[in-house]
Amino acid sequence: MKQIDIAVIGAGPAGLSAAAYAARAGYTVSCFDQLAPGGQLLLIDEIENYPGLGLIKGFQLAEQMENQASGFGVEIVYAKVSSIKKEGESFLLETEDGEVEAKSVIAATGAAHRHLGAEGEEEYQGKGVSYCATCDGPFFRGKDIVVVGGGDTALTDALYLAKLANTVTIVHRRNEFRGQKILSDRVLATKNIKLALSRQVVKIASDDGKKVSKAILDDGSILNCDAVFIFVGITPNSEIFNSFCELDKNGFIVANDKMETSVKGFFAAGDVRTTAFRQVVTAAGDGAMAAHMADEYISSLRK
Ligand code: NAP
Repeated sequence: MKQIDIAVIGAGPAGLSAAAYAARAGYTVSCFDQLAPGGQLLLIDEIENYPGLGLIKGFQLAEQMENQASGFGVEIVYAKVSSIKKEGESFLLETEDGEVEAKSVIAATGAAHRHLGAEGEEEYQGKGVSYCATCDGPFFRGKDIVVVGGGDTALTDALYLAKLANTVTIVHRRNEFRGQKILSDRVLATKNIKLALSRQVVKIASDDGKKVSKAILDDGSILNCDAVFIFVGITPNSEIFNSFCELDKNGFIVANDKMETSVKGFFAAGDVRTTAFRQVVTAAGDGAMAAHMADEYISSLRK
């Protein structure tokens, strides 16, 4: 069985930051991810609020984080981790790459998009229903798009889509946005973005049965459109930790400001943990803290 000091599960900003800090401190570190490193960074077009970097493409920041972590000696392993248990002071992970024993584990598995639950949503996924603006937006150049949601993601991605589309109509269930004011100000100042506030999309339908042609709202109004982009929040990727550590009612790993969880030596960082603010910079900060605490924990085992 492969033996390492620290296993990091997830190679988004939290995981890559944790792995880089831990490897730089002299530990053997493997960072597991089933997809390409970057996590949700790969779904973001541009980031403008990561300190010191100015405007940068999401994939470029992901690449820089990966290169930096690898440069410090982190082994990036493209393998799914299917289970975790603790035996004595050892953590045992089952992965697609075989079994791994680690002294400490950092969970940085992030979160995925939540579904709306509207009629037709599942049926027309990939036929006009999307959860990723940068992946699918370019298919709808010059078309009419509906965006659902009122958080940072909905506002950021509506602004991105408005650069490509003929019109973007944001449907939000309340009459004020949850997202940051700077973003809502930009949305309000963008001529081809329209608002349908205090309303919900209840049905997504198609005239030809092949691709989306309309969104039907709860007041009976119909928005003719070619695509519906849904950004109604996130759900944590925490299934493998279900019976391993404490999760809150929404499935986020309960962790304090030292990233400590209910299991000693097991830390959680980034979007998968309970936290008040989920940003790239806070995820990276979480990762640094988790690595520092893992270092303290492993050092305490030696005493
Ligand atoms: P979010 O902040 O949880 O917002 C979700 C939005 O979807 C809310 O407006 C919510 O409405 C709406 N919603 C939820 N369930 C719904 C339903 N069933 N039907 C209709 N609407 C529904 O999620 P997010 O925008 O994905 O952001 C996730 C995290 O990432 C946040 O912490 C955010 O700050 C961060 N983020 C930051 C940036 C950035 O800094 N540039 C960009 C993207 C994301 P209510 O408002 O009525 O609850």
